[in-house]
Amino acid sequence: MNPERSDVVVAGAGPTGLALSCALAAAGVRVRVVDRADGPARTSRANILHARGAEVLARLDALADLREQAVAPVGIRMHVRGELLTTLAFAPDEREAVQAMFVSQAAVEQRLRDRLAELGVDVEWGHGVEELAQDRDGVTVELSGGDRVRAAWLVGCDGAHSLVRSLAGIDFPGVPVVERFLLADVHADGIADREHSAGWYHRDGILMAMPMRDAAGNLWRLMANVPDDGRRLDGSEVVRRLEELLPERAGITGAHVRDAVWTSVFRIHRRLAADYRSGRVLLAGDAAHIHSPFGGQGMNTGIGDAENLAWKLALVVRGLAPDALLDTYAAERRPAAADVLRRTTTNTRALVADGPVARWVRDHLLVRFLALPAVQRQATREASQLGLTYRRGPLGGRGARPRPGDRVRDRPVLLRDGTRTTLTGELGPGWGLLSGNAEAADPLVAVLERHLPGSVSRVTDPAWRHPHALLVRPDGHLLWRGADATDLERRLARITSTMIGESAP
Ligand SMILES: Cc1cc2nc3c(=O)[nH]c(=O)nc-3n(C[C@H](O)[C@H](O)[C@H](O)COP(=O)(O)OP(=O)(O)OC[C@H]3O[C@@H](n4cnc5c(N)ncnc54)[C@H](O)[C@@H]3O)c2cc1C
Repeated sequence: MNPERSDVVVAGAGPTGLALSCALAAAGVRVRVVDRADGPARTSRANILHARGAEVLARLDALADLREQAVAPVGIRMHVRGELLTTLAFAPDEREAVQAMFVSQAAVEQRLRDRLAELGVDVEWGHGVEELAQDRDGVTVELSGGDRVRAAWLVGCDGAHSLVRSLAGIDFPGVPVVERFLLADVHADGIADREHSAGWYHRDGILMAMPMRDAAGNLWRLMANVPDDGRRLDGSEVVRRLEELLPERAGITGAHVRDAVWTSVFRIHRRLAADYRSGRVLLAGDAAHIHSPFGGQGMNTGIGDAENLAWKLALVVRGLAPDALLDTYAAERRPAAADVLRRTTTNTRALVADGPVARWVRDHLLVRFLALPAVQRQATREASQLGLTYRRGPLGGRGARPRPGDRVRDRPVLLRDGTRTTLTGELGPGWGLLSGNAEAADPLVAVLERHLPGSVSRVTDPAWRHPHALLVRPDGHLLWRGADATDLERRLARITSTMIGESAP
């Protein structure tokens, strides 16, 4: 183990920890990433990467060949009492440069590890956090195997059962949402057509079948809720029970399950960490929030946490901002997670529909409502997380759109030498100053150099017809819009001075 003191230790090399480590390393932060497991996970919980997650990966330069490897999201055929009622289609927003993709979590993690290795950092497998002690200057972390590391900051990206969270004394309140779900990824024939996912809504519960990509071309994810009788089920019992549910809930009699790749029995909880920070310890991803997997929001939300935290931590580590800036991380991301928890809980309860009234509403109203194109557009937009805004947070603001805190949509832009690129391509570790023409940005450069030295890329978008410029944060959200250097100075002072604590609502 490298005995040198690090700026940041990241505990956990899932999608959140890997995205965070990539963003920190790209910003020049000395980062170590440790994981309790012996090596990367081979099975995959998530199998959809929504548009926002794909955009973050693009900014991290970690998208690589994922677009080519992925399949476009397929619609869900919804059946009630065996009858096909609606196909819930994904309705991509054509104004956006990124779209969701069906791709395995394992593939996403692999691309992030590759990018991290390019940045000179390898995951230290087999090194779980076991104890931690923090003082004014940093955190000392005891790892399994007896190693000890010292860093200025520790980020717990160690998943739903986060030990970092409990060692830091952060509560994780919440409630169970669904008692018991069975899941099996199986090679099987005769389930349904592979052009769509399918959901069967039955008096006793739901059954879902999602086609997954693999070489054999017959991999399916089967999921169903069942009553919890307290008995532990092993993998073969999970598969057997799901095989029984195919005729019971879907009327499918000719299915043949060949083998199982992964099985799981889980209870769906909704939990949100009471805080995302305790002194020099921060939380991100499933360590900070868990919710129903319906809608595929967990990995995306964790990757979003990582990107929001990374630029703030990088400024603090470089001595360009006080550590009060880190409090804006929880102030922006905790409400975003609370919103995901609310939406996924409502959707899951509506679909699982416990009780005759809820079932009647689902089978007669909800399924038909979901057939409306406007509803499908809205559902896709919400799931994409592209509409996420921090405008009500401590770095947000009012005025014309995009407002401070809003996401700035990716667009083609020009560098000062005329090179064509995209806004996303210029962000990442760096910030972007976008204007309609280069001269409009000239008076702002000295202020930017003072507060964010060497970090701002100047780009022009000839289609931007306004006299003012946009200062875009590394995570793609607007920090400031205007033309006046004094106003910019005031705005930047809110992040690079101690004024944040005073201005936070
Ligand atoms: C059935 C199912 C389907 C899902 N589908 C989707 C989907 O389609 N889209 C989506 O966005 N999300 C989905 N999710 C959610 C998604 O899988 C999680 O939200 C995501 O894995 C969270 O990433 P993470 O990095 O925060 O945590 P994890 O992926 O749990 O990673 C935590 C890492 O920390 C390590 N670790 C644990 N303890 C320690 C320790 N003490 N010290 C060091 N390391 C430690 C672990 O070994 C692990 O590598 C799904 C979840 C489930 C259960």
